[in-house]
Amino acid sequence: MYIDSHCHLPHKKYKMDTVAVVTEAMSEGVERLVAIGTSLKENELAIKTAQKFPGVYCTVGIYPHEDIGLDVDKLRLELEKQLKTSQKIVGIGECGIDITNWKGGRPLLDQRDLFEMQLNLALGTSLPIVVHNRNGSDHIFELVKKVGASWLRGVAHCFSSTWEDAKRFLDLGFYISFSGNITYPSAQERREVVKKTPLEKILIETDSPYLPPQRHRGEPNYPKYVKIVAEKVAEIKQIPIKEVEDATAKNTCRLFQIK
Ligand SMILES: [Zn+2]
Repeated sequence: MYIDSHCHLPHKKYKMDTVAVVTEAMSEGVERLVAIGTSLKENELAIKTAQKFPGVYCTVGIYPHEDIGLDVDKLRLELEKQLKTSQKIVGIGECGIDITNWKGGRPLLDQRDLFEMQLNLALGTSLPIVVHNRNGSDHIFELVKKVGASWLRGVAHCFSSTWEDAKRFLDLGFYISFSGNITYPSAQERREVVKKTPLEKILIETDSPYLPPQRHRGEPNYPKYVKIVAEKVAEIKQIPIKEVEDATAKNTCRLFQIK
């Protein structure tokens, strides 16, 4: 069984409806999907999707540049409410730090508060945290340590940083999740990280509908393409793809406590 440990469902960018996206993934052997929340509204939709399909689970969280204008206390209250609505919520996120020239984005200090609030929520609920990181490594490690790293479980999603950063996440006991961007010609450094990361700490994901693998660039990405990520990991590590399939499914089930 394959698991897409991180996709966005439902989403307007898909060229088919959610039923078709999920059914196609399942029929290709991608039997579990984790629909990741990014805002109060998206969380609601992810929860509904998870309720509808037995193989779909979900997370709730606020992406660094979503729900701008709502203060952290209000967001915490809303997330706490959402957490009570479904047994299929298996994590907090995606959340983290995103330092880019995002127009009208959330200022860094506010991003830190928002991330810290969600780290505390993860600790309070014993749910794992799904971390988004764009140029924010130092802030992330500082805040994870501040809230009590030893308790916290989590995953560095769509890992796109250096081996040094990967090691810091691994030292915290986090999993590292790789996406279709490891297939890009320019991704030599990322492939080095795949090579060095122990298989028992690797998750695979699509981040669909974003980040299609190389052979589907320019199209929307789909959860079924997580097999292409597995294929690449197998090629880099020079092991049979079945080993990647089994290990990543086991790792994902362990992290999110799903069956
Ligand atoms: Zn995502």
